[in-house]
Amino acid sequence: MSSKGLLIVLSGPSGVGKGTILKEVMKDESLKLAFSISMTTRAKREGEVDGVNYFYVTRDEFEQAVRDGKMLEYAEFVGNYYGTPLEYVEKLRNEGTNVILEIEVQGCLQVQEKEPDALTIFIVPPSMEELENRIRGRKTEAEEIIQQRLAKAESEMEMLNKYKYVVCNDDVELAADIISVIIRRHMEKNAEKD
Ligand code: 5GP
Repeated sequence: MSSKGLLIVLSGPSGVGKGTILKEVMKDESLKLAFSISMTTRAKREGEVDGVNYFYVTRDEFEQAVRDGKMLEYAEFVGNYYGTPLEYVEKLRNEGTNVILEIEVQGCLQVQEKEPDALTIFIVPPSMEELENRIRGRKTEAEEIIQQRLAKAESEMEMLNKYKYVVCNDDVELAADIISVIIRRHMEKNAEKD
């Protein structure tokens, strides 16, 4: 009777505001959402907590997890590995929880190969100028990294046709509302299948 939870992929260029939108969407408990905590080799940013934002590991640990088949997907992004541990995602989905992966484009393509029904959403900024302002405003990265992230953003924007939905983050609350509606509709469709 109770169906497996949805697998939801949220992507978008660095600085577009995925985290802020996600926080808004997750306030709605009726959506039964859980956030998949990724593993990364990148350094912890100020304010981030191990086991909350990411599991911070060494390159050796990450590569071992990949060899052991423990990752649903993984990718290298601006010099660091990022990936989704499979076991946690499966456990939650089997309990009927809808799981959100906040991952970049290459990882999303791998997820789609394995799970063609994944609900994929790409968030775009109102403009590339606005995106640059947001990344700079965050003041967490050195200039060289900012440049790399901006270049990466340009190439990621070319991949948005790979996603089922594209949502503009002009207004956080509105973007969150749109995403909530999309998720709710897919939950209904999922329930109809039973
Ligand atoms: P940040 O360093 O800004 O936290 O993340 C950099 C990029 O890595 C973002 O686009 C983010 O969505 C992506 N990312 C975070 N976790 C994962 C993951 O588990 N897998 C993949 N493929 N990308 C991830």
